Amino acid sequence: MCDTIYNLFMTTNTYVDPNATIETHWRSIVLLGKNTASYKFALAKTLLELPRQQSLIRIDELALPFALNICEHLKLNDKQHTGSTNSFLDECRKFNLKEISENDLREASIKNGFTYVIDAFHNVVGAVSPRFFDDSRKNDNGITLTDNFYNLFETEQKFNFRYEVEARWRLWETAITLKINPRLLDLYVDGDGETIFVRNESNRRVNVTSAKHAIAGYQRGKCFYCYGSINIERENGEVCHVDHFFPHMLKQFNFNNVDLVWNLVLTCSDCNNGKSGKFDLLPDKKYLSQLFKRNNFFIESNLPIRESIMKQTGSTSSERKSFLENFDQNALSIQPHRWRPMILRGEPI
Ligand SMILES: [Zn+2]
Repeated sequence: MCDTIYNLFMTTNTYVDPNATIETHWRSIVLLGKNTASYKFALAKTLLELPRQQSLIRIDELALPFALNICEHLKLNDKQHTGSTNSFLDECRKFNLKEISENDLREASIKNGFTYVIDAFHNVVGAVSPRFFDDSRKNDNGITLTDNFYNLFETEQKFNFRYEVEARWRLWETAITLKINPRLLDLYVDGDGETIFVRNESNRRVNVTSAKHAIAGYQRGKCFYCYGSINIERENGEVCHVDHFFPHMLKQFNFNNVDLVWNLVLTCSDCNNGKSGKFDLLPDKKYLSQLFKRNNFFIESNLPIRESIMKQTGSTSSERKSFLENFDQNALSIQPHRWRPMILRGEPI
């Protein structure tokens, strides 16, 4: 791994763990932390989509695709900022209404789209992540992609990143909108574990995002049990499965909350329902602490998964630990058989 990852940007009491992978650093930028606007998601998505032949990307090249990504999201959700007014977002709305041209949108984006996001992109919950681009606005009026960014595309996870950004963006904007009515801030997952949805004021289901896209980054893009790398979209090879950690069949025995995000993990097809797959068995006890850890990682993500997991499994670390242990004990009274994979395909999550 390249040296620039370890260019530490130390503040007084935080430092970058030298064992963290470049994928983890990228995900910490996209998946964790508080966001007051969607610009970080828009910039991450745009960078993943742009051609990478040249490491210098001028602001006038970045401006339009960046703004168009925001325009697309404004169509899905008009709230892209926690504040009340924002002149750049107003220009994007005008573009969606065909009141201004693409060229006007580009100009608005050059002028106001990057005021904070380039400086703030690498700030992650009280620390600074290794850089995926350098700020070259002073001399070259652009940003320069670093080796760290290029290294992302050398990893097995390279196809997953853009889906993860999109899922995180959808969850964030939904939460920002529903914050108007916190009672509604609850995430549901449909019976087959494919889609995360919320219920609006009229109790109608509103689909938010694919569960696979939303979960993958929080278990480092690996199968929860055998640790092999997984794909979250069919186009890139065999697609992963959504597994109920505590099996779905427990529902028949009045275990009512097995369909919620805290209990869903992604697995390879072998582990889920292959020849020696898990099916309806309970996972080996060692995976209980891994589930606890994965759910804590969700909690670092802030709105809305954080709130949802805490509501479902407990607001403190010790409450969540006992919740899982009690659930396991109760499940054991129905299902006495445990399961673990025959082979491990990677390092633990
Ligand atoms: Zn597996």
